[in-house]
Amino acid sequence: MVLDANWAVKWLTLCAQAMAENRVWLIELDRAIGDSDHGENMDRGFQAVLDKLAEVPPETPGAALKLTAMTLISKVGGAAGPLYGTAFLRAAAALGDAMEVEPAAFAGALLAARDGIVARGKAEPGDKTMVDAWTPAAEAAVAAAADGAGSVLEVLVAAAEAAEAGAAATDPMVARKGRASYLGERSAGHRDPGAASSALILRAAVGAAA
Ligand code: ADP
Ligand code: MG
Repeated sequence: MVLDANWAVKWLTLCAQAMAENRVWLIELDRAIGDSDHGENMDRGFQAVLDKLAEVPPETPGAALKLTAMTLISKVGGAAGPLYGTAFLRAAAALGDAMEVEPAAFAGALLAARDGIVARGKAEPGDKTMVDAWTPAAEAAVAAAADGAGSVLEVLVAAAEAAEAGAAATDPMVARKGRASYLGERSAGHRDPGAASSALILRAAVGAAA
């Protein structure tokens, strides 16, 4: 398995599918601690990404992620659009114009994405945001790639599993950033919607390589 432009297009296609399938769940998560728009935002954004991919088929994984960033920035309002836009833009820059993504490069792209989200939103781990999914995901990918033994699929799986655990770990947290922070202690007991959608995105990366 190589992570080439076809993989990237499949990844983004599976992201769009996951956002459509989980639209109502993400709306409900955001209804509990936000303003109910996250599912709609993500579904609309990734459907627009699909349209763009069909219009201008990207030649490299980096180009696919850059197109995604631009589309999400222009189509997704609220906090998540600029945050995901920055994440995909930084990941695209990390990949450059390579035709294929090596395991360590994928891990590096996840770290760059996480750093972009932190630079933009200033959240720290434990603030109950998407950073709580991206940080363990990037670290798990780095660890899996550093083993050397890690196949590319193992690196993708490590990232997805860590993102899912990270998203679940936001349930008891009290939000300190974003709209959910207005609720204070009442934000505890609910999963952060952005952490949930981040885990869906990283799980889709596995599906595209399987
Ligand atoms: P909005 O909050 O503007 O309605 P969304 O509902 O689409 O936007 O996205 C909310 C998600 O954005 C949250 O669940 C959280 O994961 C993420 N988020 C909000 N603010 C920040 C921040 N400062 N840093 C990182 N992530 C954030
Ligand atoms: Mg919202």
